[in-house]
Amino acid sequence: MSKFLKFKCDLDTFIEDLNSILESNNKKVKQLLKAETKNYASFVKSMQMMEEKLELYFTPLSHLNSVNNSEQTQEVYTQSLPIITEYSTKLSQNIEIYTAYKDILKNEKSSLNHEQIRVLELNIEHFELSGAHLDKKIKQRLEEINIRKSELSNNFSQNLLDATNAYEYIITDKKDLEGLAQSDIDAAEIEDDGETKYKFTLQMPSYIAYMTYGKNAEIRESLYKAYVSRAPQNAEIIEEILALKDEMSRLLGFKNYVEYSLSSKMAEDEKSVLNFLENLLENSQSQAKKELAEVQKIAPHKLQSFDTAYYSELLKKEQYDIDEEKYRPYFEQKSVVNGMFEFLNRLFDIKFVKVEEELWDTKAFSYDVYVQEKLTARVYLDLEARKSKRGGAWMHNWQAHCVDEKGEEQLASAFVVCNFPASTDKTPSLLRHDDVVTLFHEMGHTIHHLLSSVNENEVSGVNGVEWDAVEYPSQFLENFAYEPKVLKMFATHYESKEIIPDEMIDKLVRSKNFLSAMGMLRQLEFSIFDLKIHNGVYTQDEVQNILDGIREKSALIKTPTYNKFQNGFAHIFAGGYAAGYYSYKWAEVLSADTFYSVIDEGIFGSKTAKDYLNIVLKGGGSKSMQVLFKELMKREADTDRLLRLNGIH
Ligand SMILES: [Zn+2]
Repeated sequence: MSKFLKFKCDLDTFIEDLNSILESNNKKVKQLLKAETKNYASFVKSMQMMEEKLELYFTPLSHLNSVNNSEQTQEVYTQSLPIITEYSTKLSQNIEIYTAYKDILKNEKSSLNHEQIRVLELNIEHFELSGAHLDKKIKQRLEEINIRKSELSNNFSQNLLDATNAYEYIITDKKDLEGLAQSDIDAAEIEDDGETKYKFTLQMPSYIAYMTYGKNAEIRESLYKAYVSRAPQNAEIIEEILALKDEMSRLLGFKNYVEYSLSSKMAEDEKSVLNFLENLLENSQSQAKKELAEVQKIAPHKLQSFDTAYYSELLKKEQYDIDEEKYRPYFEQKSVVNGMFEFLNRLFDIKFVKVEEELWDTKAFSYDVYVQEKLTARVYLDLEARKSKRGGAWMHNWQAHCVDEKGEEQLASAFVVCNFPASTDKTPSLLRHDDVVTLFHEMGHTIHHLLSSVNENEVSGVNGVEWDAVEYPSQFLENFAYEPKVLKMFATHYESKEIIPDEMIDKLVRSKNFLSAMGMLRQLEFSIFDLKIHNGVYTQDEVQNILDGIREKSALIKTPTYNKFQNGFAHIFAGGYAAGYYSYKWAEVLSADTFYSVIDEGIFGSKTAKDYLNIVLKGGGSKSMQVLFKELMKREADTDRLLRLNGIH
């Protein structure tokens, strides 16, 4: 019998089958809860496998809806979402399940292994973070807070969107378009009263195009001013959101929202994250000043906030004019994929063997993955753009490695989806270097999921991995896409068969690190701000003061007072990054640190690479990444290596 599920999704009967799965699940939960004695094997394992089966059934539909979208997939998908939501909300509020988990953890702790304990702890934490275990009055207040919070987030984005759409800048003088790419000019062209004019807006990519290439400083200033002063009414919303988050955190037993947010993350506490960010800030300042001085040199007057993008681009062009088209012939898709497999083989001793099977598109392929000759997982690659596929690139996990309730081993599988240029019979798919980086990034997530040796599916592979650690394996692998030794394994000109020259690789690395310290300061400003405003309740003025205080260290050019960046910070006020924006940098440090150990050990044959496979990849979510990382490196993460990766000395 095949170890892997056959990919299938019957749209005609999907909802009907879904309903009957859920019905039998609900019956099963009742039955499991009724049992007089509940233990890990009889209760927790059965619950886990029941949920796993539902996932296995549902994933092909969401996958299909993303990669082979049609009216029918949309319809079935939209129909199924409320059904699933209702089912899982009910489960997540079933206090009997919570009590059973707590009892089992208490009674069996000494006989359970660390994977099983982690499953219980995460499930219990999940209940407690939603307040399902609290008394009725508190639960009611929490629900009110949640509803109000989502209204406010929604208003925050709506105000931002309205302000973005309300503004336009019309250019009538063609001189003001000098320096812009023809495609940006074409996109801006409008007919007005029989006259050709050019409309720039605050939408991307229009705004970015003028700020980066537009020669007229007055126009840049107008655009900039409009952009950074959007949605002033969001200042009040921020006040209310902060107050609600603080109240919610206290009701759940935390000191403040930062403590609430970090309780389920890898980072220990506010102090350790702040220290980490401020340390990076201090170490980036002097180089950032030098970088700014370089930019200043080519500007005819003292740089203003609305000048930096423009003069930075001029400087970049002067220093490294990278022509993407010259690189693409070196990155023919098939040779990149095979080269990446070969690289993974030499680094981790894993092998990819193509499988003959029919999938959702003729351009999608599957491979069996062997670890030291043992069949371990299956990966599905669907890399080329097509009309029915949503944009972007991602890894989507399907099966998770585990041992089921009958004691049988189940293997892992995952989908890798990209939007690379489509190949035809006559022309191959030639990638940009950015695409190569993307492929390595997604493959990093993928092997994190596939190479798991964990037996409990809820903490196997990427399951159960903390939010601020998820990008660690992807960024780790991504870094190798700039490494000469690795690039030379596959970057061969598809016609002349010439291997990519050293100078071309060198240029890629230097251009990646162009003005990197300035970029670092900006990201740190956002991260520190996010953390500092979430540790209490603040008024609009206080929020502004906190931001100004941070900018004294992070902003090298004085920010104009009309700049109300906070009113547009949707990541934290309308998205999921509140008291979590630091995660980008956090995971980068782990990945840069591990990466340089492997590099310094000569890449192939590296002991750290082997340990990384055995500890981090095989360990999946079975332990906190804090623990796995220390087991791997035998010390705390070294921020100097992130600076090294960014070329900051
Ligand atoms: Zn990622």
